[in-house]
Amino acid sequence: MRGVGPKTAPLRLDSISYEALRRQVLRRDSWRCQLCGSMSNLEVHHKQFRSHSGDDSELNMITLCTACHSQTHRSDLA
Ligand SMILES: [Zn+2]
Ligand SMILES: [Zn+2]
Repeated sequence: MRGVGPKTAPLRLDSISYEALRRQVLRRDSWRCQLCGSMSNLEVHHKQFRSHSGDDSELNMITLCTACHSQTHRSDLA
């Protein structure tokens, strides 16, 4: 029970810093999918290592294309 209602304003600062972080990760990975090397349909995936408590740093994020990204999530479920 956190008492946070649906009318809570979106965390704008959070989404801005997330966007900056996302771009930082994309730049670090040279705007390429780190699995297949594709340079289109890029997304950033949170690796969320349990040992690192899944924190929101760029070390915990990786650039993937949509295809590899959905594959990663599918193998997570397996
Ligand atoms: Zn890929
Ligand atoms: Zn993901």
